[in-house]
Amino acid sequence: MPEGDTLRRLADRVSNAYVGQQVLGCTFRHPRLALADLSGTTLRSVDATGKHLLSRFSNGKTLHLHLLMAGRVFLSARPDVPEWRRRFEIQFETGLLTGVDVPLLHLFDTTREEQFVGHLGPDLCGAYDHDVAVARVEAAADMHLSAALLDQRVVAGFGNIYAVETPFICGLNPFTKVGAIESIEPIMAIGAALIRTNAMLGPQNTTGKRLSRSDQWVLPAKVRTCKLCGATLERMSEGQTPWRRRTAFCPQCQPQTATTPDLDRAKQLLGLHPARRMLDLPTCTLIADTSSAVVAKS
Ligand SMILES: [Zn+2]
Repeated sequence: MPEGDTLRRLADRVSNAYVGQQVLGCTFRHPRLALADLSGTTLRSVDATGKHLLSRFSNGKTLHLHLLMAGRVFLSARPDVPEWRRRFEIQFETGLLTGVDVPLLHLFDTTREEQFVGHLGPDLCGAYDHDVAVARVEAAADMHLSAALLDQRVVAGFGNIYAVETPFICGLNPFTKVGAIESIEPIMAIGAALIRTNAMLGPQNTTGKRLSRSDQWVLPAKVRTCKLCGATLERMSEGQTPWRRRTAFCPQCQPQTATTPDLDRAKQLLGLHPARRMLDLPTCTLIADTSSAVVAKS
């Protein structure tokens, strides 16, 4: 599932492979971009802001894309995928960039980027201002916790994995209103530490177990019971939550009456995860320097 960490890693991969190279040819299979041609231009830079990818070319144009739920980008040809699903193919000197099922695609003057990403909150995987992010979440007092974490205008980068897993780690219910929670700081510190660590290392892992693989405490449908207390998890489909994303929580560990992040619980659950190095664990305060974007390890 593409979230801010996935996009940050994608930006670094595309950048490492193709920045400085000339476009030898390109095809867009999108009504708005049918006549677009980047041939002869050079790829100047690639960046991610939240879940948006921005590729800047020497003709002053930016190719902007958002993968939503199903889009994928490959640094290779994908002849196995039907042509109509290959929304763009850009031929660089050493290889191809292929966008499959990419739902949102724009090409515009680089000077207009703000119009597309200026509304976003602090970028969790970019140069990240944690104090501003905490204040933005606190200001969303009327929102359910998971809805606030998912709202890209509040803070940019979290998808459903972090919106479900961070409340579990903190012992808070996804439905608890932000304004009822005593302290937002540890929730955001833990979420930021997890997504930045995963952007650096790769898999979307929140447990710290089998770190080379994607692994989460409660979101995967195969997980039936709470790994801490053994209670049967409650699951809701996207049609059952006001924020229209599926959710899961432990009714014992995450009661709706809980309004204080459980720091002892967080310390225990983060014990194996390298994200703990970005935190002062006893207080769950973010201590890592987040003033520059995460650089993905390949
Ligand atoms: Zn539990």
